[in-house]
Amino acid sequence: MKCPYCKIEYNSLLTLNVHKENCFYKDNPIQVDYDAIPYYDLKSMAMTKGIKGATNMKKTELIDALKEMED
Ligand SMILES: [Zn+2]
Repeated sequence: MKCPYCKIEYNSLLTLNVHKENCFYKDNPIQVDYDAIPYYDLKSMAMTKGIKGATNMKKTELIDALKEMED
């Protein structure tokens, strides 16, 4: 489960709820600027999220795949 504001992953509902109360992005949800993230970081993010074929993707393909994962 993750914070709806900042998209940080939490593995317990209790810590998530405590975090949400004080989330820095509560009133201003974060918009991830994937274009600003280096290619190799995008690739490791994609692999962490289990996106298939991430190792062979171009930057634009990684960005599309990561955006799809957000919902
Ligand atoms: Zn948060």
